[in-house]
Amino acid sequence: MSVFNIAVDGPAGAGKSSLSKRVAAALGCIYVDTGALYRAVGLYMLRAGIDTKDADAVASALDGVRVSLRYADGVQRVFLGEEDVSDAIRTPDASMAASDVSAHPQVRDFLFSLQRDIAAENNCIMDGRDIGTVVLPDANVKVYLTASAETRAERRYKELLEKGMPTPFEDVLADIIQRDYNDSHRAVAPLRQADDAVLLDTSDLDFDAALAALMQIIKERIA
Ligand code: C5P
Repeated sequence: MSVFNIAVDGPAGAGKSSLSKRVAAALGCIYVDTGALYRAVGLYMLRAGIDTKDADAVASALDGVRVSLRYADGVQRVFLGEEDVSDAIRTPDASMAASDVSAHPQVRDFLFSLQRDIAAENNCIMDGRDIGTVVLPDANVKVYLTASAETRAERRYKELLEKGMPTPFEDVLADIIQRDYNDSHRAVAPLRQADDAVLLDTSDLDFDAALAALMQIIKERIA
């Protein structure tokens, strides 16, 4: 039996991750957070003291990166070697480092087959920036999830607060705007809606309404 793949793309803070987790639980498939891979590479470079904007320096250091995704009870954990870095990759510094390294083609190539292999072997909902456009062009369902920058900053602000990492709202908003710009203006695999993706704007939807809308889109396409 062939697997089904659901691709969810969109800007930072659109709700991709929390919604995709719930969809995965409802459908009994795995949730693959590809941002975690870019974050792990970014974290590795930060720790190694490498300038994350320097494509050549980052490319030469990739040899040392052992990144993997492991699943325990359906929950994804990301590893650098044998170290579980799932929490360490969530800091604002790691976010920016991820955004920087993700602009380098060598980093995208490096992570490409890992993502493809997971999707080939598992029913999954995979989220990122280029899943519907580059990684899984033949996904059964493609959704482009978005919301206004202010709404997304508000959500991220609350999330960081709940995680015990209070960050001024202005900083969170500035970070979102900067990452939107980086992600949509880079030369390789820029963030954009695939031609055959369904647009879901969650600016005016609460979590449950957004989840219901997403499930509806998926159910219409996967029997
Ligand atoms: O989704 P998340 O915010 O965790 O992603 C961190 C960064 O990784 C993003 O800002 C983006 O630059 C990059 N990314 C990417 N392609 C993906 C997933 C994430 O370029 N498929």
